[in-house]
Amino acid sequence: MREILELCVKMDRLADDLYQTLARDCREPELAALFARLAKDEAEHTGWWKGLLAAWDRGLLPELVNDTAGLVERLSGLYAEFQTIEFDTLGTLSVEQMLALAARVEFFMIDPVFSELIELTEPAHAGKRHAAYQVHVQRLVTEISGRYPEDSLAGLLATSLTRAWSDTMRLSAYATHDPLTGLYNRRALQTHLPQWAAWSARYGHPLTVLLVDIDFFKDVNDRFGHATGDRALREIATAMDEGVRASDLVIRYGGDEFAVIAPETGLAEYGELCTRVLDAVRAVTLDTDGDETLRFTVSIGGAVTHDAAGSPPQRLESLLAAADQSRYSAKQTGRDRAGTPIALSAS
Ligand code: GH3
Ligand code: MG
Repeated sequence: MREILELCVKMDRLADDLYQTLARDCREPELAALFARLAKDEAEHTGWWKGLLAAWDRGLLPELVNDTAGLVERLSGLYAEFQTIEFDTLGTLSVEQMLALAARVEFFMIDPVFSELIELTEPAHAGKRHAAYQVHVQRLVTEISGRYPEDSLAGLLATSLTRAWSDTMRLSAYATHDPLTGLYNRRALQTHLPQWAAWSARYGHPLTVLLVDIDFFKDVNDRFGHATGDRALREIATAMDEGVRASDLVIRYGGDEFAVIAPETGLAEYGELCTRVLDAVRAVTLDTDGDETLRFTVSIGGAVTHDAAGSPPQRLESLLAAADQSRYSAKQTGRDRAGTPIALSAS
């Protein structure tokens, strides 16, 4: 993992150097200003990776990548290609060549490997990071489109860059997000939960997993139709996502069921976490076509683990089975509540 993050720092640093050199050597003041701006963006991206590297060194990041060797190989390949750019001849390039070089750099940097890493290491900030990156790519695209006609080769390059970026984003969103609610999907849970379980066990930190199920949701569909049911799912998902901490992951587990992964949350904080989720859902109101206002409740089950550092991690199946059992008791005892958490221990 360290090697991967180091390579990311190196790549963005190289991009930063390249844009700084272009800014210095470009004779057109407006274009030089753009390159200086792009260099500033790259310095910020370098900062993200450095922050992650520091977090890794302090033991705050889980080992997230399954195929480390494969990823190192891909990144090293990108980096090697990047290094073939000759910095000392940049001053002799024409404006067109400079823009082409910048586009080449951005084609490297929109490799899905980076968005994958951002999703994996910082799910809570991924949206903001992707948005910032989009602005960065767009600065260059706008410049190219402003200078060349749409049907020229350069115009095509600008369009291709935008297209490659949006395809990367769409593909990474499909793989990890639920299209209805925009939350992480079950597949993301299968990636994130074992990683957080491994990290918590390794460093002796607590971890809570919630399963949250909407009460009597079938009635909503039956009485008001599927479209209203879908709207309700979206509202409830947003409310839960906004109700928990930014570092907690809210996932659409399937149908009217959600999961919450809450790192650094143990038995002492379980009640507060559940209250936040219960209250967030209780506050949702949804107007139907027939002038009725719908309100909702959920039943929550929780599994909590807090083992000594170096313990074997809890298995995904055990955590989910325990949370499911706890949720079942919440349903049985009247709904709109959290079940007693089930504590799982390595010993
Ligand atoms: P309980 O309190 O026991 O959970 O009752 P319930 O009615 O919520 O339980 P049940 O699991 O029987 O119903 C879940 C319903 O969720 C069934 C299905 O109609 C609805 N549902 C699942 N996925 C979707 C979806 O994507 N959109 C809509 N509108 N409804 C969905
Ligand atoms: Mg339900």
